[in-house]
Amino acid sequence: MKIVGTEAAEVERALVAGELSCPGCAGVLRPWGQRGGVVRGGNGVERRRPRRSRCVGCQDTHVLIGADCLLRRRDLVVVIGAALAAKAIGVGQRRVAAMVGVPVSTVRGWLRRLASNAEAVRVWFTVLAYGLDPMLAPLAPTGTSFGDAVEAIAVAARAASLRLAPVLPWSFAASASGGRLLSNTGCPWAAAG
Ligand SMILES: [Zn+2]
Repeated sequence: MKIVGTEAAEVERALVAGELSCPGCAGVLRPWGQRGGVVRGGNGVERRRPRRSRCVGCQDTHVLIGADCLLRRRDLVVVIGAALAAKAIGVGQRRVAAMVGVPVSTVRGWLRRLASNAEAVRVWFTVLAYGLDPMLAPLAPTGTSFGDAVEAIAVAARAASLRLAPVLPWSFAASASGGRLLSNTGCPWAAAG
């Protein structure tokens, strides 16, 4: 898996031109399988089909994940993030689903995944936040582990915007987690032990 830009046409151009390198061995990535692209959901919600690539060096295949997407999730991270943020302030699942225009079952999957990783996510993004801004005030507890995880993401994104370059909170969450914010395997926090 490799994090790339958010413009599908530009990613395709760079891939075909051999400008993308393998995250494993730095070999050249070549197109593999069908093109990625925008897919419309039943209610007009924009979804993405990820582009696959294969390394000419180690022969590994890598999914190219835009910084606005999460691995194995077809909705944009800004949509997923809006749902997580709403849940964090106590909005119920059905209202969250109606708000973001996604089936309740899909929203439930996102909320469950973050809930099961909440403490690890909180620690990961809190460490990132203090790495970016050692003078940061202590994070205020929100009362739930889910809320604390979302708060840590927001604080880390704010610190990154001030220290590095302006970044949308959920795009930051996507790239800072290697696209694995809602994955159960290969999370950066799992790898970190
Ligand atoms: Zn490789």
